[in-house]
Amino acid sequence: MWERALLGRTAATVSQLVNRRSIAAAHSLAARASSPASVRNIQLFKLRRTLRHAAEHSPFYRELFRSRGVDVAKVTHPSELGDVFTSPGDLLEPGSDAFLCNPPQLIYETTGTTREPKTLYYSHQEVEDAASLMAVGLYHVGIRPEHRVISTQDFHYWTGGPWFARALTRLGCLAACPGKIPIADVYERLEKHGYDVLIGDVSWILRLTELAEERGAFPMRLILGAAEGLPASSREYVEKVWGTKMYMCYGCSEGAGGMECTHRHGYHLNEFSYVFEILDPDPDGYGEVVFTTLDRTTMPLIRYRSGDVARIVPETCDCGIATQRLSTLRGRSDEIVMLGGEGVSPAVFEALLEEVPEVSGTWQAVIRHDEHQDVCELRVELQGGDIDAASKRFLDVLRARHADTLWKNRELGLFALRFSEAPRGSLRTGRKLRRLVDERQP
Ligand SMILES: [Zn+2]
Repeated sequence: MWERALLGRTAATVSQLVNRRSIAAAHSLAARASSPASVRNIQLFKLRRTLRHAAEHSPFYRELFRSRGVDVAKVTHPSELGDVFTSPGDLLEPGSDAFLCNPPQLIYETTGTTREPKTLYYSHQEVEDAASLMAVGLYHVGIRPEHRVISTQDFHYWTGGPWFARALTRLGCLAACPGKIPIADVYERLEKHGYDVLIGDVSWILRLTELAEERGAFPMRLILGAAEGLPASSREYVEKVWGTKMYMCYGCSEGAGGMECTHRHGYHLNEFSYVFEILDPDPDGYGEVVFTTLDRTTMPLIRYRSGDVARIVPETCDCGIATQRLSTLRGRSDEIVMLGGEGVSPAVFEALLEEVPEVSGTWQAVIRHDEHQDVCELRVELQGGDIDAASKRFLDVLRARHADTLWKNRELGLFALRFSEAPRGSLRTGRKLRRLVDERQP
């Protein structure tokens, strides 16, 4: 009976259960529906519905399918679409409006530090249903309605802060969602308000942990990190200082994501609302993560190239949820690096340095770990002035251009920026100068 009710209705049914404050029932339903056979049935039903809808109502997909001769009625899995993909660039040109199937009710954006911000449209219902499934993920990792949660996921045009706030509301916890505010402001309130669950970007949590190590930690039930990779040594450090477990979640700004369970071996993917594929896997199974949305009718995305490189963890998990797990990310298929919780592309540094006349066109940014902090060292070849003048001007430009992202994250201590002068001709050793070099170990 429940199988029939679930087919194509999992997200909505889970959402209704969560709305009625039956989070435990919603969790149990999601667990039962997560077997590979169930997931396959749900995905097939929803994929057909999504493809039909997109082919009929989205000008972008109508034209794409027509030009590639795709008959959506014959498609049973996204991989059958061959070389039909949606790239992040398509959301800029022809632009997100060309994807719209229904009038949108909510707008989110990706941040402008990777490239021009991309617009993502949703309906209220789509976001509420997504938040309900997120609430089930939070429940699965151990957060309960009786816990007191503080989330410092940032509030802006993007999804992090607002989506966590919605999910915590669904879960029914006492929750504070102040955004990515200074570390000391939160530390002072931990004891006062008795927060026992902490959610935030990894770099932000690490700074708070340093403060707690210095001044004393408070009892914490669990910590959930997002947005960046977490080296094993940093996870151990956080757990030692707080005396509790730290878990991680994965999400891309275009909506798809997953969450670790207590076994902490990969992110359980939300396969009720997305089909995930690994594109062109290497012999170890690593390739670009590509996803197709199954529950979005406002702006569906079909075979969207996320740029994240990971693999599917081959074994099934013993935790009770049988959805596939994604490994920790091994990097990006483009040159974007994570810095202080923000993806940054070489083009951002290039645009900033163009405004610093002391710096020649030859420069390189090297990102590495220093203890538990990321350091971005800008090695530049000068064409006049000195390194102090160049670094001062760079900081002025950074504040003027990226006040809400890179500048703010540096001010919060989420990463350190250092400048050094490279002798003329020393950086360009090979034919092509690598602009961003990430020396961090995962
Ligand atoms: Zn698990």
